Amino acid sequence: MELFGLTISGALELLKKREISPVELTKAVLGRIESVDDKISAFVTVDGEKALARAGDIAAGEGGLSGIPIAVKDNICTKGVRTTCSSRILENFIPPYESTVTGRLLNEGYVLIGKTNLDEFAMGSSTENSGFFTTKNPWVTERVPGGSSGGSAAAVAADECIAALGSDTGGSIRQPASFCGVVGMKPTYGRVSRYGLVAFASSLDQIGPLTKNVRDAAVLLNVISGHDGCDSTSLNMDVPDFTSVLGSDIRGLKVGVPGEYFIEGIDSEVAIPVKNAISQLERLGADVVDISLPHTGYAVATYYVIATSEASSNLARYDGVKYGLRVEGNDLLDMYMKTRSEGFGQEVKRRIMLGTFALSSGYYDAYYRKAQQVRTLIRRDFEKAFEEVDIIATPTSPTTAFKIGEMISDPLQMYLSDILTISANLAGVPAISVPCGFSSEGLPVGLQITGRHFDEESILKVAYAYEQSTEWHKRRPLL
Ligand code: GLN
Repeated sequence: MELFGLTISGALELLKKREISPVELTKAVLGRIESVDDKISAFVTVDGEKALARAGDIAAGEGGLSGIPIAVKDNICTKGVRTTCSSRILENFIPPYESTVTGRLLNEGYVLIGKTNLDEFAMGSSTENSGFFTTKNPWVTERVPGGSSGGSAAAVAADECIAALGSDTGGSIRQPASFCGVVGMKPTYGRVSRYGLVAFASSLDQIGPLTKNVRDAAVLLNVISGHDGCDSTSLNMDVPDFTSVLGSDIRGLKVGVPGEYFIEGIDSEVAIPVKNAISQLERLGADVVDISLPHTGYAVATYYVIATSEASSNLARYDGVKYGLRVEGNDLLDMYMKTRSEGFGQEVKRRIMLGTFALSSGYYDAYYRKAQQVRTLIRRDFEKAFEEVDIIATPTSPTTAFKIGEMISDPLQMYLSDILTISANLAGVPAISVPCGFSSEGLPVGLQITGRHFDEESILKVAYAYEQSTEWHKRRPLL
């Protein structure tokens, strides 16, 4: 196998035995980017020289990730390396500080291979909202890779990195993982520090891994998890070794299948592989039971009130004074308006307006407060379900990857593509997407496994058992 095709665990083994060096591995991955990224456009920034210099400084075997080339979504701050959020307004922003997650990766010896493309400020489901360019799905390049972490998912699928980090506010790790045939995990809210993640909707955002297999997701999660005094929402709680549960039996484990996730509108090309995957869990000894998450139908509306409200407030800081772009005007107000009008793309503006409206006096009670109340009901649905079952199995997305341009003019249709992932963010529970099949056109399908708060272990255990009993994760796109 070519070195760029390695997983984290596979690469670490060779590095530790000194069969390969961090420099060789980094060169291989840079070479891969060089040869395929013209077709995929996964990266906003690649600094090969810096990556090689870093790889040269690393003594193999010192940290848990020493010498592993990892791609980072471009809304996660990397000190001294441009962090754009795929927005014109931050096009030349070079963070003076390191995010907590990348700081932890640095301590473990990782090599930052590049910063990946996203929908501007992580708002979208296809990377078409990037202020720069659209990333292509490595399986069928006329299709979107999903979003907003589409650059990270495509980079992992195309072997342009060994693994990647993404962020998930309403599905942005899991949906692109499912579209690109890789593993993507959103941890429990509070498990991973958000310090240095450019805020979109702070009560929903979580950083997580995008990897070639489940073991690698556990390895990365081990590194990025844990309390951080710089993020008041990060929980002070012990972090287990997530790899220790891999390989354990899932016999007797209770798998809930919510009827609300298999409704009309779910493409049969998705529903069939997912149902087969659930049968496979049964063959592995799990007990499958029908459950109900009765408020699922309100999730999209609830999310788009809360997410846009928080975004309108978070994005107020881009005013031409504190960060990035500044467009001069006749006076201060004119400068603000010109900067924001030129710096933000259409979708970001739409969300700022929606959120500002929802928070306005007179409307707050009708929209924002109501949405928060419904959010509680959605969380309770999960709590109730988890009294009965250990995990919940569903499709990750109602469809496989759609065509570039197909939905961009219809934002409501695009919003609906998040219908199966959003509830986990509203409830704060962890969820993973693992490859579970392909459509007749050769597009990957994802199985979503959701767990109790802070029970990433059950999710990983089931995902691993499923993965090891199937071959889907071994397929790679032909590039
Ligand atoms: N697609 C959803 C949105 O547009 C989710 C985005 C995300 O998770 N960052 O808001």
